[in-house]
This record gives sequence, structure tokens and C-alpha cells, in this order.
Amino acid sequence: MQKLKKQQKIYVNRSLNLASIKSVGFDMDHTLVLYNRENFESLAFHETVKKFIANGYPEELGRLKFDPNFVIRGLLVDRERGNLLKVDAHKYVKIASHGHRRLEKEERYELYNAKSFKADDFLTVDTFFALSETQLFTEIVDYMRRHPGIVQKSFRAVYQDLREWIDLSHQDGSIKKSVLAEPEKYIDRDKHLVETLVKLIDGGKKLFVITNSDWTYTNSVMSYLLNGLHEDFPRWQDYFEYIVVSAGKPNFFTGTNPFYEVMTEKDGLLKLHRGPLEPKKIYHGGNAILFEKLTQQKGDQILYCGDHIYGDIQRSKELFNWRTLLVVQELEDELFRLDRLHAELERIIDAIRKEEEYQEEAQALRSEIGNLQRRLKMNSSDKQKESKSLAKLKEHQEHLYTKETQLEHQHKLIKDLIDKREKAIHPIWGELMRTSLEKSRFAKQVESYACLYTSRVTHLRYYSCSQKFRSYRDMMPHDM
Ligand SMILES: [Mg+2]
Repeated sequence: MQKLKKQQKIYVNRSLNLASIKSVGFDMDHTLVLYNRENFESLAFHETVKKFIANGYPEELGRLKFDPNFVIRGLLVDRERGNLLKVDAHKYVKIASHGHRRLEKEERYELYNAKSFKADDFLTVDTFFALSETQLFTEIVDYMRRHPGIVQKSFRAVYQDLREWIDLSHQDGSIKKSVLAEPEKYIDRDKHLVETLVKLIDGGKKLFVITNSDWTYTNSVMSYLLNGLHEDFPRWQDYFEYIVVSAGKPNFFTGTNPFYEVMTEKDGLLKLHRGPLEPKKIYHGGNAILFEKLTQQKGDQILYCGDHIYGDIQRSKELFNWRTLLVVQELEDELFRLDRLHAELERIIDAIRKEEEYQEEAQALRSEIGNLQRRLKMNSSDKQKESKSLAKLKEHQEHLYTKETQLEHQHKLIKDLIDKREKAIHPIWGELMRTSLEKSRFAKQVESYACLYTSRVTHLRYYSCSQKFRSYRDMMPHDM
């Protein structure tokens, strides 16, 4: 196998033998279809701002700028206080901001870390759709912070308005219409998609799509992506054995909705479906129990690829034992940056080793000092010995003082090195999968729910269809 760059690899949390996988399913948005984040998310942002102003919020909000990099996935939104939080795997709030104001350590401690943390009190930013929404919330909170009294609402009420109007922007078709009018502006073609799908088909896998998008949108976007690119598969439907639109995940995995057949391609007329799902036909709604039954598949023979940790991955794995591949698009850029910051990580590790050395030296001095002090208390009659001990004690105390000063410098050096490295990855939130040197909450979820993860679904093309993906993650710290 060719040597892959870090950002091209598929990473393994739970061992998986691709040979025993019979079908590979895909979510559509942000999995098969990659969007130009800047153009696509700014659409939702600006459409929603318009609705805020139309509903009586200050016109100045029209000047807010969308920043595709401001929010990262895995952050938590505290709607009550208008704060955005980055939390580690142990539920410790490491970074928090109120609008654009970063909370000091003491403030964070008082609000969050001094008491038990209930994740249910917060919303998780876990989809790409949520990135623009969360930035807009932060911008409005920041506006309220800078102009107190103008918006006479609680942060929670502002968030409710935001939810309502962002949903409306999606439902009233304003976003979809723009995407379909200029797909080249909003959709990033992955030129390896055809090759990847054909490789899986040739490897004996049946492919399917389960998307929450409706038929008209799915058909338009998938046609743009795949039609006419391979003579054996002239239409996009030709690649897939089963196609389910408007699936309503995660309810697809928990509910009992029936399947409808999409009868007419143009207007998506529906008819209640009975009997097995037929290949190449288009189905609407449904649920996973029926899907398995009607397609005669077993959970652990299905590999499902998606970008949404709850909608696509957690439920399918926990309730149906589907094997899962999570697409973490952000990793592409982040792994590239991390690779270039390798020397920085070495410096941090060296600095931590040095800190450990200083700790040991300081402790040795403390023991010596303790020993001498105990002896001096015994009131020895040997005055010469006593004065020698006193001199030694003074010398050790001076050394200890120097050592403790060195240690303080070393703590600061390590903190500065970590901060510098984090800021080189993201100026506010640092690494997606880490907070300082520990795993982030997002990393823990990825570990728990995704058997495999990678930055693009087309990375499957690098691997054999009978690849054994082996996990090394079950190592304990003492194994390293
Ligand atoms: Mg998706």
C-alpha cells in the first residue's frame, strides 16, 4: 500500500474487518456532498440575520460578519448565560467565552468547574449546520454585551428566536434555492468520489444512501456530483442499491415510520410502500428496523458513513450494531497543521521531562532540609557540627529557592508552549480533539461511537475491500 499522509488515513477506534462488511451506507450532506463551508454556511448566517432584523432586532446586526473558522465542532452552548465552552473528556471547562470576551480562569471556575457538570444543560455544536448558528448567537451576545439595554431579551430567548429563524431559512427553501442555482459556488467536488464508489462496488459491497434531505434536493445535488462521470453508471442512482430520502435521522434509528416510495422523479409523489425494498427505487422516511428487514441485512455487516455523531453514528451503532465511519472534515486541515507543529510537541515533551527532573531535585532538597532541621532540633553538644549543619541547611534552602524559581519558570514555559501550539491550530479553541494535552469531549465521543474516522469518505479508496482495520487505541497510559 502506498505511504499515506496523515490527513489521508482512516483511523481505527474499534477493529473492523472490511471483508465481513456486505454493504456500505452513506449519509449525503457533508459526507458524500462536501460544501464550500465559507459560501454555504454564510448563506444560513445572512439569511437568518435578515429575519432577526425583520422581527425588530437592531439594524446594526446587518453588519455582522460571518467567520467560517470562529466555531469548531464539539463546543457547548450555555444558552442561559450566553457562553460558549470547550470542555475536556472529564467535563472540565477549559475555555469559555461570552461573545468575544474570554472568561478568566476564576470566572470559569465559579460558573462551571466548582460544581458538578450536567451536559444536558448545554447544547452541543455537533453538525456543520450548527457552526453558523452558534457563531451568530455569539455575535448577538457580543452585541448585547457592548450595547447593554438595546435588546431587551434574555440570552435564552435570543437563542429561541435564532433556532426558529434558522429553521425557517432552511424550510422556506431560501438556502437550498441558492445552492441549486449555483452548485459550483456551494459544493466542493471531490474528484475521487466516483473512483471510491466503483472500488467498493467492485469489491462486492452494496452501497446505499440514507439522507435527511428531501428527494428534490437530493436528486439535484447528487446529479450534479455524479451524473455522466462513468459510462457504467450514467446516473447517480446507478451506484446505489438502496436510496432513502427524508429519513429523519436520528429518529430513523428510534422510530417506526413506514417507508413511502417516491413515485415520480419530478414532483416526488409518495405512495405507502409494502414488501421488500427494491433496488434502485427511491424511498422516503422509514426506519432502521424495517430497513434491515426489507433489505435482509444484519447490523454488523453494514458500515455506515456519516458526519453527524448523533444523527448518523451513535444511534446506528448502539441500537443496531452497525459499524460506523465518522467523517471529520476538519481533521484534513488540522492534521496538516499538527504535522508542521511536530517540533513544538517535542519541545513541550522535553520541557515536561525537565519539569519532572526539577521536581525530583526539589524533593531531594526538601528531604535533606527536613533531615537537617530534625537534627538541629536535637540540641547537639557538638557546636562545630551544629554550625556546619546550619551552613549546609542555608545552602540547601538557597538551592531549593533557586529550584522552585526554576520550576515556576518551567510551568510557565510549558503553559506558553502549549498555548502557542494551540493558537497555531485555532486562535481561540485550539485543537479539535484536545484541550491542552488531554482529550476533548468531542474526541471522547469520537472514540466511543465511531469504529473508524477520517476526514473524507473518499479515503476508503486507499484501502483494500478486505482490509483489516486494527485498533491500537485500547492501550492504557502504562502501555506507552
Ligand atoms: Mg450529514
